[in-house]
Amino acid sequence: MLAQGLTRGTGGNVSVRSGDGVAISPSGVPYEDVTPETVPVVDLDGNRLRGDLKPSSETPMHAILYRSRDDVGGIVHTHSPYASTFASLNEPIPASHYLIAYVGTEIPVAGYEPPGTEALGGLAAEAMGEDCDAVLLKNHGVVAVGSTGADALEVAQMVEYCARIHYQAISVGEPEILPDDSVRDLRKMFTESYGQR
Ligand SMILES: [Zn+2]
Repeated sequence: MLAQGLTRGTGGNVSVRSGDGVAISPSGVPYEDVTPETVPVVDLDGNRLRGDLKPSSETPMHAILYRSRDDVGGIVHTHSPYASTFASLNEPIPASHYLIAYVGTEIPVAGYEPPGTEALGGLAAEAMGEDCDAVLLKNHGVVAVGSTGADALEVAQMVEYCARIHYQAISVGEPEILPDDSVRDLRKMFTESYGQR
């Protein structure tokens, strides 16, 4: 996330699920200082099972997303700048680039609730639904999910890439938005024939 410019400092957080346990980034620890031993493990209700450090303040949101989607094995939360710009405008990101099919037919915006609350997690899960793998959090940032942590990171990158292309396109003209049908077909192709997810 740091190398790809998706976050800075201690911003954002990541988690992976294994069975009923969720390994999640500790709160307020620089990513470079995190070692496997220091990673807290929580249950699907967000209660700490292991580790001395406090789990991320966004643990309730991660827990809700795992509870609402069995297919999710990893979650990445960022404040990546282009995607966060659309989050602040309360504007979903439409299909102005085909790579959005990696994420969904568009990237929706979940309504505002304060960071770290159950309510924010609830809105994120609701806006994401079953068919989309990321959502913008209004006035805040991005949550991306995947079958693994690596998948979720890739989705988070795609979100930021599509946000940037859309931002640039609307800055100089009017992008042609791909029809839902084409994006749906592409999405099917990505999940079936690319087969790495
Ligand atoms: Zn955040």
